[in-house]
Amino acid sequence: MTLYNLLDQHLFLPIGDLVYGSRVQAKLKELRRTDRLDAAQLRQLQDAKLQRLVRHCYDTVPYYTQLFDRLGIKPEQIKTREDLALLPVLTKQTIRDNYDNLFSTAISPKRWRKSSTGGSTGMPLKFCTDTAEWSSWKASTLRAWEWYGLQLGDKIFSLGGSSINKKKQLFSFKGLYDRVIMRNYKYSSADVTDESMHRNYVEMMKLKPAALRGYGSALYILARYIEKQHLPVCPIKVILTTGEVLMPEYRRKLEEVFHAPLYDAYGAGDGGILSHECPEHQGLHITEEACIIEITDKQGHPLPDGQVGQVCATDLDNYVFPFLRYHVGDMAYIKTEPCPCGRASRLIGEVMGRAGRLMYNKQGVPISPTVLPMMFYPHLDYHNTEYQKTYYKIDKFQIRQDRNGDLLILLKLKDPSEPHEQFNYIIDNYRNHFTGSEVQLQFVDDIPCLPSGKEDYCVSEYEYQA
Ligand SMILES: [Zn+2]
Repeated sequence: MTLYNLLDQHLFLPIGDLVYGSRVQAKLKELRRTDRLDAAQLRQLQDAKLQRLVRHCYDTVPYYTQLFDRLGIKPEQIKTREDLALLPVLTKQTIRDNYDNLFSTAISPKRWRKSSTGGSTGMPLKFCTDTAEWSSWKASTLRAWEWYGLQLGDKIFSLGGSSINKKKQLFSFKGLYDRVIMRNYKYSSADVTDESMHRNYVEMMKLKPAALRGYGSALYILARYIEKQHLPVCPIKVILTTGEVLMPEYRRKLEEVFHAPLYDAYGAGDGGILSHECPEHQGLHITEEACIIEITDKQGHPLPDGQVGQVCATDLDNYVFPFLRYHVGDMAYIKTEPCPCGRASRLIGEVMGRAGRLMYNKQGVPISPTVLPMMFYPHLDYHNTEYQKTYYKIDKFQIRQDRNGDLLILLKLKDPSEPHEQFNYIIDNYRNHFTGSEVQLQFVDDIPCLPSGKEDYCVSEYEYQA
């Protein structure tokens, strides 16, 4: 442990909590303590948190008050996660339709942290959290990093999906928090040309990070570049992936190129899902202290462990904008066997259903699926409020690449009478990335689900041939 690790854990993190009003240090201590609880103790803790949350929802959240009354359910009837099945699932559409009624009237708007699923998972969903939720999120991540031998204060090289303004990173609270406390140095993966990969490589070598972090596909593109150029790499302790389904070939390539073990994470701000790969690679341990995961069919009926179904999440820490039985849109299953590592938290065996496979342009350059939705923002800038307004005029989209590598982009507008020309920037954005591909934009009344029943925003039949 270095002096920086010690200072970070005992000085910078507490100062961060003080300035921000968060409780990351306290939550982390709590999670370290509950990490080795047995199944019955963990259950007891989870049930108690659930009962408190349900009471709060009924008493202070108009949407839930009306729902419980309409169904004739009393909050006392929901004592365990099995009892949750009494309630219908919360869909993205229900949230959009009832947005204002989903806020708790007991919590001051001063504490709201408005959030959205952003540009990386298809159409965005607006929701809200607070610092308590944020503390829980950070602490759960830090606990998992400790499983992997990573300490707070170790440097992290992050490849994110968007362009991150360095000035902004240094002169905002969040930026300072990232740099000084999390020691998370963020770089952009939006541009996948060899030049930008080389820039990222040079930055990584300068930084000498303990960990690499980012979308599996973004890190994979960097690894491929390093391999192709036969470049040396600095010693890396661990690779941390998140944000999309990790393809087995990405895991293999990343571990091979960086000579380090990879640990995946699966989370979602909407629904408060937190899970981190078991240090013994047995699956993803659910942070049972912070969220309840059920696997259900489309209608919300619980499925037995081992069976693949919809991920249905109840966020135990979000009291501002509570999620009870939220269908996040991913498919997964829960393992039937207890984990040999000794932790009693349940394991997600595999997450399916989020777009994670790469699309290639005609030059064979892979385009990360997480960058594709960002192209619906003018200049790919999803931080700009004016551009967000344009983006929010879109109700749904789908990117289809045919066998020849050409693209058809389907767009469903919220208001079909909007002038179509204002969306021509989308064609330019796609042409810039998919060099040599025909790009067509088609305005449609509806975008049907795929034959698998999945709602996916990118579909490709194109296999790049070198
Ligand atoms: Zn385990």
